[in-house]
Formats: sequence, C-alpha cells, structure tokens
Amino acid sequence: MTVLLVEDHRALAQWLTGELQHAGWTVVRAGTAAEAQQLVRRRTYDVLLVDIGLPDADGVDLCQELRTITPAPILMITARHDIPERVRALDHGADDYLPKPFAIEELVARMRAILRRTRGEPGPVLECGPARIFVEERRVEVEGQTLTLTRREFDLLVVLARHPGRVFARDALLESAWGYDFYGESNVVDVTIRRLRSRLEPFPALDVQAVRGVGYRLMVVA
Ligand code: CA
Repeated sequence: MTVLLVEDHRALAQWLTGELQHAGWTVVRAGTAAEAQQLVRRRTYDVLLVDIGLPDADGVDLCQELRTITPAPILMITARHDIPERVRALDHGADDYLPKPFAIEELVARMRAILRRTRGEPGPVLECGPARIFVEERRVEVEGQTLTLTRREFDLLVVLARHPGRVFARDALLESAWGYDFYGESNVVDVTIRRLRSRLEPFPALDVQAVRGVGYRLMVVA
C-alpha cells in the first residue's frame, strides 16, 4: 500500500513517514501542492494524505484538482477545527478529514477504513465481553444497544478493550487517545474515564476500574 503524504511541516512529515512505514505503508512525500500534482500524474497511490495548510496552495483547492487527476481516496489533515472548513474539504472531493492533533492509531485506522470503503469491504469488529466495537465505523454496541460516545470516550474504550484486564497508565491513555502533541491537564483522562464509566453503568459486565496510583483497566465480569 502506497500513500502520498502532502505536508510541508518537515518534522511532522518525518514523524508521520516513520509511523506509517512502521504500520506497513510505503510513503512518498511532497512538500508543496505543485510537487503533489506532479507525483500524482506519474503513478497511482492507494491513499492521498493532504495537509490543508500548504505553502503554495490551499489544501482544499489542491484536493479539488487532484480529484480530476486520480480516483485515489483523499484524507485531509486539518489544523482548523471550524466546521465550515471541514464541510468545504468534504465538498471539494475529500473522502475524510482528521483534525490535528491526532493519534497515529486513528490516522492509520482511518486510512484502512477509507481503503475498505472504496473497495466495499466490511470493517473489523473488536469483541469485548458483551460489547461489539466497530472500530473503523467508530460505533459501539453493548447487548445489542448502540452507545453514543464522544470521540475521546470511544478512543479510550478501544484502547482498554483491546486488552481487557491490563492496567494502562494515565500517560499511555493520554498518548493513545489525544495524540502526540497534547498540551493540557492530564486530568482529562480521569474526566473522560468518569464519563465513559457512567455510559457503561447500565452494563455491569463491563467494569472500568481505577487502579490506585497507576491508571485504569477494563474488566469483563462474567
Ligand atoms: Ca502545513
């Protein structure tokens, strides 16, 4: 699988390249919109990962142009959190977007999801006790009921549910669900866990436990 990464921020591009290679992707890099257009004309890519803020063009305009050159799915990376910007990206041919900062796990999952959608394949299901977690659709069912979770609650649940019984330190949870450059209070983990716990309250078989001085774990109670 080959991804074209269009990102002018050198350090971020380097970090992403390493992480994506680690996840099994071949990465080709472009630092400008002009370079991206040249590269896309030369060969086909499985996914195009395009930063919205480029030095020589607006990422959304680039996306619209790329659409006329290639059928490859486009995932936009955006630093802007405003909804009109996201809508504009989707309206101009982006298949999905991911606001910065993001966790690499989420980026890789979205890239896989995009590929699967374009090929019409179903996504994997993570089973944990009575919970069925449709990771790529970002949907959870417990005992047949769909749970409504926020993005962070969902991310934390996925991390915990992948290894029921394992204790995760706060820092590890913070990094998994909030990403590489989160600067804020580390009590966001505690606050989000509390909310997740209250959402799981109707299902006693799923017990999010605090382990004093260490972190949290998800226990599946038989
Ligand atoms: Ca940029």
